[in-house]
Amino acid sequence: RFITLEGGEGSGKSTQARRIADWLRARGRIVVLTREPGGTPLAEAIRTLALQRWDEGMTPTTELLLMFAARSAHVHALIEPHLAAGHDVVCDRFVDSSYAYQGAGKGVDVRHLAALEALVLPKLKPDLTFVLDLPVEQGLRRAHARGQNNRFEDEARPFFERVREAFLARAADEPQRCVVIDARADADTVFDAIVAVLEQRL
Ligand code: C5P
Repeated sequence: RFITLEGGEGSGKSTQARRIADWLRARGRIVVLTREPGGTPLAEAIRTLALQRWDEGMTPTTELLLMFAARSAHVHALIEPHLAAGHDVVCDRFVDSSYAYQGAGKGVDVRHLAALEALVLPKLKPDLTFVLDLPVEQGLRRAHARGQNNRFEDEARPFFERVREAFLARAADEPQRCVVIDARADADTVFDAIVAVLEQRL
């Protein structure tokens, strides 16, 4: 099974991804825990380009193509082989993040996103996607508190609101794949909500 976690800054995706992986392993599954952008040495190198060199004239299109370049490497070298072997893959961010950040956030036309998705992942869809949702303000406070200092520091608040709305809109469009989780609570409470879904769906 292929499980992805999506959500804005400070929504707790990484923590919950680890917990989901541990939960599945405790049930005897072989689990690969990975993230995007990144997940393989090549894709992690592309991640560094995308996230650290944004001030060197990076256009939304450059950023979009880097995200999908990393994704192509990741899907080919890691995700698909593990799924083919019958393992579970838990991924911290996936395609929904491109629709949210490069699409809704940076204004890239959704048709270009769909074309890249068709090129890079013609057959691959997550079986289950958790959208960890919380108010932008609260997420940014959490991200700040842990000293996360990235290229979004200067982004205006409306950018993050568009990102949040895009995740929620995609979840509403694909209710069989996506479950929105209220991420305002502490990590234990959020994980309880996730486990309830896992027990019901898997
Ligand atoms: O999930 P994580 O916080 O590690 O993501 C790293 C950064 O990359 C975040 O600031 C996230 O918003 C950004 N990102 C992006 N577009 C994507 C995926 C991640 O701008 N498609």
